[in-house]
Amino acid sequence: MKRNVRLEDITDGKIYELNDMVRADTGGCKDCYVCCTGMGDSVVLDPYDIYRMMQGLACSFDELLLTKINMHVEDLLILPNMKIEGKDERCVCLGEDGRCTVHAYRPSVCRLFPLGRYYHDNRFSYILQVHECVKPNRAKIKVKKWIGNPDGDRYDEFVLAWRNFKKNVQAYMKEVDSEEKVKEMNMYVLEKFFRRPYDSNRDFYEQFYERLQ
Ligand code: SF4
Ligand code: SF4
Repeated sequence: MKRNVRLEDITDGKIYELNDMVRADTGGCKDCYVCCTGMGDSVVLDPYDIYRMMQGLACSFDELLLTKINMHVEDLLILPNMKIEGKDERCVCLGEDGRCTVHAYRPSVCRLFPLGRYYHDNRFSYILQVHECVKPNRAKIKVKKWIGNPDGDRYDEFVLAWRNFKKNVQAYMKEVDSEEKVKEMNMYVLEKFFRRPYDSNRDFYEQFYERLQ
């Protein structure tokens, strides 16, 4: 999610690269699930997150929409996010035991946390969000190890391609200044990148780039 805040207000002031050590290791988050509550619509999902959840839960996008996710609007573009429920505003995937029930295919925002991405020069580095994780004395760990990047460079390229695509669509929507066209475009993006199932026998990235064409 795009945040309009000053970096120095939310981070330790450092920019991290994959081989840097960072104090992010929460040691398995023992007895804690603070960041899985009250997060509003900030756990935004990209097509790869949705693909992984659909594979992991063996369900369709529409079934996810009924149970696990919501839609919200970001600069006119409608995007999915993890659903929160109840007076404690718990993520619906947070089990009664305080553990994530979709841990193996949890969204990238959750995999990174308490790190976040910092985009610059058409690439991204990482930041440590200092006000979000409540665990004191986190251990140091190599960024690369913490984020457990599923497919290395291919995943990073996908993250950038998706971000650039979203920016272009948002710019287009702003420019057309027509509710009907914005709605049309939203339906198109939703269908193309989220609702239409990805073939589990084929490489995700290949299918994503075909759709991006
Ligand atoms: S998906 Fe899992 S890790 Fe992410 S907010 Fe929900 S419960 Fe927490
Ligand atoms: S607040 Fe920190 S320790 Fe607690 S669940 Fe989140 S990442 Fe883990």
